[in-house]
Amino acid sequence: AQLQTDVVIVGAGAAGLMCALTAGARGRRVVVLDHANRAGKKILMSGGGRCNFTNLDVRPGHYLSANPHFVKSALARYTPWDFIAMVDRHGIAWHEKEAGQLFCDDSSKQIQQMLLSECAQVGVRIELGCSVSAVETGGPGFKLETTRGSWLCSSLVVATGGLSIPSMGASGWGYQLARQFGHELVPTRAALVPLTLSGRPLDDYADLAGLAVDRVGASVGSMRFDGGLLFTHRGLSGPPILQISSYWQPGDALSLDFVPDRDMAEWLAGQRQARPAVELKTVLADCLPRRLAQRLCDLGSGNRLLRQYDAKELAALGRKLHAWPVVASGTEGWRTAEVTLGGVDTGELSSSTMESRRVKGLHFIGEVVDVTGHLGGYNFQWAWASGHAAGEVV
Ligand code: FAD
Repeated sequence: AQLQTDVVIVGAGAAGLMCALTAGARGRRVVVLDHANRAGKKILMSGGGRCNFTNLDVRPGHYLSANPHFVKSALARYTPWDFIAMVDRHGIAWHEKEAGQLFCDDSSKQIQQMLLSECAQVGVRIELGCSVSAVETGGPGFKLETTRGSWLCSSLVVATGGLSIPSMGASGWGYQLARQFGHELVPTRAALVPLTLSGRPLDDYADLAGLAVDRVGASVGSMRFDGGLLFTHRGLSGPPILQISSYWQPGDALSLDFVPDRDMAEWLAGQRQARPAVELKTVLADCLPRRLAQRLCDLGSGNRLLRQYDAKELAALGRKLHAWPVVASGTEGWRTAEVTLGGVDTGELSSSTMESRRVKGLHFIGEVVDVTGHLGGYNFQWAWASGHAAGEVV
């Protein structure tokens, strides 16, 4: 059968559903195709089941892209408050967790259901378990061969997301299609992902697996993120590690500030005066978990009574505790990465409509594009904003 519609969107994820409900509300006939058996699977698993659906403080600086200006137009035209208005209209209770991060009080399923019900209201047709085998441009418009017959449409929107979590339906299809139509790709890389250690560095920390440190700063070059650190069996995790993973590349120096809230050189000098007959590890355990304090002593300056250290030695240790070098060997990869860095090069896309400059009527939205947000609701806000931008014009 050959079916006809105005808009075909491939990918019923965050960006695809937002694009569909926006275009549907304009009276366009919209079909969304997805090879998965459920729409919005990543929404369901997001934010620990509560979906961190946006952030109150969205700025271009929260995004990585070869062109840092690309996000501006779409983000300005669909703001966190636009999405919050929809959430409120659906009576979904939410709260701010930290630093502007908004989560559902109950369940991420509410966000998925909200998007599906908005789509249903405007007559969007969603075909699940449907794969696209070929796409051709037929003069104006496109012809898609799918496992459910062929579709003719005037606009084609690629919303197939990134490569992370293959078990959730991730595929490289969007990148292949981009290449088919002559688009450049920025190399992809797993991001917002735990870092791994190997060899000696792993031996140094592996037995601390499970240990959490409330506040640590993780730095690569001039980028730094603070938050809770977690030692794992294979390396390091926790928000500051996930964040810095987007900036870290093999060979880059990673350093940890174990005590961000105090000047440790000054503090240790004071402790040496006040508690000269106390062991270093005991003193450090005032600011760090005891096992970590012991380990850092083992790896660093040993464990003597404070009076047995000279002032210079303690000052050097104090400085090192703010920039503790750790050699990471890699990342946990696509299996656990929250997002994909790189993707369809923004150089050949319109930043206001997400339309290809090469093929009229072809749009790329969401994570398949070379735009990657920081942790904290920024990736969904990009999906909503880019989906909306395309939905207004397709
Ligand atoms: P997706 O939501 O991934 O949707 C892509 C869709 O395309 C999928 O339904 C997929 O099945 C379909 N598809 C793929 N290939 C094909 C194909 N060949 N044919 C047909 N269909 C195809 N971001 C936040 O902002 N806040 C969070 O709390 C958050 N938590 C996360 C937790 C986890 C565990 C993960 C993995 C990610 C999280 N993210 C979060 C990131 C966020 O989920 C993504 O950035 C966002 O879903 C991207 O939206 P998208 O529509 O571009 O892609």
